[in-house]
Amino acid sequence: MNDPDCLFCKIVGGDLPSTKVLETERVLAFRDINPHAPTHVLVIPKDHYANVAELTGADPGLAAEVLAAAAGVADAEGVADSGWRLLANSGPNAGQEVSHVHFHVFGGRPLGPMLSA
Ligand code: AMP
Repeated sequence: MNDPDCLFCKIVGGDLPSTKVLETERVLAFRDINPHAPTHVLVIPKDHYANVAELTGADPGLAAEVLAAAAGVADAEGVADSGWRLLANSGPNAGQEVSHVHFHVFGGRPLGPMLSA
């Protein structure tokens, strides 16, 4: 299930390049093009869902696979013990730019407070 106009669907399909960090049958993790931390990886389901609510509503098992992959990314990046942050923006107030659900994995330095003022 893909959206031909979706940036991340194009990455999944190989029509746009990405730096892959981890891949399973249904999940892809790749480096953010504009990293905000030494580790900044995006973890997505290969199928297109616009946001977390759509994903969890349609396929909670896939949501669990995405979360497990995020933990796998933290491990593979060597930040599992030093600490890491998982972030998913949903909608305009959160600043969601790409309407294909994605989880940011940040790590590799102290990440500061959870929210800016
Ligand atoms: P969000 O604001 O949560 O929707 O985050 C979207 C993220 O996608 C941003 O951190 C962008 O830097 C990132 N991004 C946009 N285009 C690409 C791309 N082609 N490859 C990797 N990351 C991208």
